[in-house]
Amino acid sequence: MQTLEPDLDAALRSAYDSYADRRPRSAALAAAAAQVMPGGNTRTVLHFNPFPFRVERTEGSVLIDVDGHRYVDLLGNYTAGLFGHQVPAVREAIVAQLERGWAIGATHPLEIELAELVCARFESVEQVRFTNSGTEANLMAIGTAVHVTGRRTVLVFEDGYHGGVLSFAHGVGPLNVPHDFVVVPYNDVPAVEAVFAERGDSIACVVVEPVLGSGGCLPAAPDFLAALRRLCTDHGSVLVFDEVMTSRLHPGGAQARFGVLPDMTTLGKYLAGGMTFGAFGGRRSVMAAFDPAQGGALSQAGTFNNNVVSMAAGVAALRDVLTPQALTALNERGDQLRERLGVTFAGARLPLTVTGVGSMMNIHAPDDRWVALFFHSMLEAGFYLARRGMIALALDVTDEQLDAFAAAVEHWAAEPTGAG
Ligand code: PMP
Repeated sequence: MQTLEPDLDAALRSAYDSYADRRPRSAALAAAAAQVMPGGNTRTVLHFNPFPFRVERTEGSVLIDVDGHRYVDLLGNYTAGLFGHQVPAVREAIVAQLERGWAIGATHPLEIELAELVCARFESVEQVRFTNSGTEANLMAIGTAVHVTGRRTVLVFEDGYHGGVLSFAHGVGPLNVPHDFVVVPYNDVPAVEAVFAERGDSIACVVVEPVLGSGGCLPAAPDFLAALRRLCTDHGSVLVFDEVMTSRLHPGGAQARFGVLPDMTTLGKYLAGGMTFGAFGGRRSVMAAFDPAQGGALSQAGTFNNNVVSMAAGVAALRDVLTPQALTALNERGDQLRERLGVTFAGARLPLTVTGVGSMMNIHAPDDRWVALFFHSMLEAGFYLARRGMIALALDVTDEQLDAFAAAVEHWAAEPTGAG
């Protein structure tokens, strides 16, 4: 029998101890890393207590760490790993490009091909420019909106995440770029209406994730995106959908799934087959700001904007691998997994819930120690997800692996803190 108030601290301590005992090489590397990188890493989100395992190699959808432990990768690089680790078509495109050269400071045909594929996929994107990351894509989109409207206010949402310098998880973060941000609760139409009523003529743009990604895979309420569309149109503000994560939720992006078209869309993550990538695009009239032939005054710099390896990988990934059928099937599998996890948590009367859309989901608990315990229990069972509870399914994760994960969750839920 489960106790009514399980000792979460004791269970976590024991999970940390057994994790550390079984990973001496990762422990030694954590100590070495901490000497040369603050916190021992260069991507803060990858840290977890007591120290993260270090990956030595991948085998299909399995990560193998330096101590020889194997984990089915359910994190999928926070949505960027949609294609998996070893996709033959993407690999061949990268290797073929390496034969032709990879440090090219000139234009080349592949950037056109990728731009055509991106514009064909997302209805709101008539023209596109590439960047190195989703963060940069959002910086460029906001700058573009400020330029074309001649206004300064940028409306964003609590718990929204648009990059390391555009993070609204805890108010306006200290590393954020100094735009004139107004931060409003997500899904709160009256709050947005109030801001527009008060200062609509100063709002350059609204930047929104159609599903809050880093903020916990929380979908937009049915009327929310439509209300943003209406308010932006009425007040001449630019509506920017940050689809860096959500573009994978439908072959035409979340904008097609939810039936609301923005003026600008930002992209990143998986679209270059797993290589470094970002993009921003939108209506021709907006993107004309970058076209000197149309009087456009903006110049977009960036040494690696048309990085030919990313372009080659992206063309292969979008043209040859990511069919609408493959993407739709993956999102359906995600819906089924989420439903099964929800039934398991509810049936075991645990304070855990799962939210999300399609292949993106997040496990939540009012007390974060539950999520930590779940995370460590899954690691021990051979499944890797984000420490904060996020799962983003990749195309190479098999039905058998998802079944085994769901079964591991059921097993854990029966006795989550060890012998009760
Ligand atoms: N927007 C969203 C919605 C994201 O989830 C992320 C990354 N998690 C970004 C922007 C930033 O992308 P990048 O990490 O490539 O800079």
